[in-house]
Amino acid sequence: AKARGRGRFEFFDVEMRMRMQRRLRMEQDLREAVHSGQLWAAYQPVVDLRTGEMVAVEALLRWTHPKHGAISPAEFIPLAEESELINILGKFILQDTARELAAQRTEHGLGLSLKVNLSVRQLDDPHLIPAVRDVLSTTGLPPEALTLEVTESALMRDASAAAEVLTALRSLGVLLAIDDFGTGYSSLAQLRRLTLDTLKIDRSFITGIADSRDAAAIVASIIAMAHAVGLTVVAEGVETADELELLRELGCDQAQGYHLGRPVSAREMFG
Ligand code: C2E
Ligand code: CA
Ligand code: CA
Ligand code: CA
Repeated sequence: AKARGRGRFEFFDVEMRMRMQRRLRMEQDLREAVHSGQLWAAYQPVVDLRTGEMVAVEALLRWTHPKHGAISPAEFIPLAEESELINILGKFILQDTARELAAQRTEHGLGLSLKVNLSVRQLDDPHLIPAVRDVLSTTGLPPEALTLEVTESALMRDASAAAEVLTALRSLGVLLAIDDFGTGYSSLAQLRRLTLDTLKIDRSFITGIADSRDAAAIVASIIAMAHAVGLTVVAEGVETADELELLRELGCDQAQGYHLGRPVSAREMFG
């Protein structure tokens, strides 16, 4: 029994070491990726449900690894969040997409807004506020054309610390969104205390609303609650025409999802 126990430990040891080596290699690769053009921004349309027009795009980070091909942000963002790497990635995507959007707005006269995701770790970065201010002034993107999205779980991790940073961000004139709403258990009181502009309903609440009265009722109540405290409501993960129609009937303001458009490169999005 003893010998078997040792064997098991050794097995886990080997597996753990392999997993750690893989992560270390990926982190090293990611550091290089920033400087060698492997990272790029995909853009997904956000549509106004009253007019049917595209009013914004969400920037989503993409990594094309020279050997392994496309690596999902669901894999590399959490890895980057374990170190200061996320601040480097965050700055890269903000700079790159703000420049792109500013150019598109002047060239085509588009009233397009930009939505960029912020990681919770970036909220702790003392350089965040100056970096956002700097990006706005160098690109000329009007602050009200930029919405920063922070997930509900990130905001609730340390709500009072987050509130301070959000207030500073908002004083720059940018808009703030609570992302993946419904996955984090925030109270109405906490929501009110954070000065937010937009609430983005998590995809898990949108999937199936067209087939379930209960699911639709939950979304209806989230929309009513958000509107009651003056927030604009966006639904993410809209995959069918029925979902879109129902959201319109429920008074949802904006929508995003594969039914309306997948994330694509700047060239595919803007031509
Ligand atoms: P998110 O912010 O909730 O972004 C929405 C995700 O849902 C994106 O996945 C998008 O491609 C996907 N999506 C959009 N419409 C649909 C749909 O109709 N159906 C389905 N099944 N999925 C849809 P993606 O691009 O893989 O990004 C995953 C997550 O990685 C993002 O979730 C966000 O949390 C994070 N992320 C991506 N880019 C960045 C970034 O630049 N900075 C930070 N901090 N996080 C990022
Ligand atoms: Ca988002
Ligand atoms: Ca989201
Ligand atoms: Ca989500």
